[in-house]
Amino acid sequence: MEDCIFCKIVKGEIPSKRIYEDDQILVFMNINPSTNGHLLVIPKEHSITFLDTSNEIITHSLDIVREKIYPLLKERLHCSGLTIAQNNELGQEIKHYHIHLTPRYEDDGLDISYDKEKIIDLDTIYEKLTK
Ligand code: AMP
Ligand code: ZN
Repeated sequence: MEDCIFCKIVKGEIPSKRIYEDDQILVFMNINPSTNGHLLVIPKEHSITFLDTSNEIITHSLDIVREKIYPLLKERLHCSGLTIAQNNELGQEIKHYHIHLTPRYEDDGLDISYDKEKIIDLDTIYEKLTK
């Protein structure tokens, strides 16, 4: 898609540090990492959120993470864990589907902050979700 920064990365029109690619997906380094080795997995074909991304692509992406990328991060960077996250719509800065792979290290201090004042009690939310 024109004007999509990640499509331009796929095509090589914008530089990126590529870690893995095949005919379906590309894994490259996040330019603004949350921890050392923070990577992004994207489909080569443009889609926006997980809703319009095929199960095949999502499954393939996670297979590659399981088989190749997480072992690589563990072996080379000695991370102690991996946070896999994916933003849809609100919170999604780049409108091209991407999965964040954030290696975790002991005492890395990674914290997803939120306003605790806005948290409603569990019973109310449970009702909204089930009734
Ligand atoms: P999100 O908020 O989930 O859309 O995350 C978008 C991510 O893309 C951010 O973590 C950015 O640091 C990352 N990003 C933006 N532009 C680039 C780029 N040119 N190369 C690599 N990562 C990028
Ligand atoms: Zn795109």
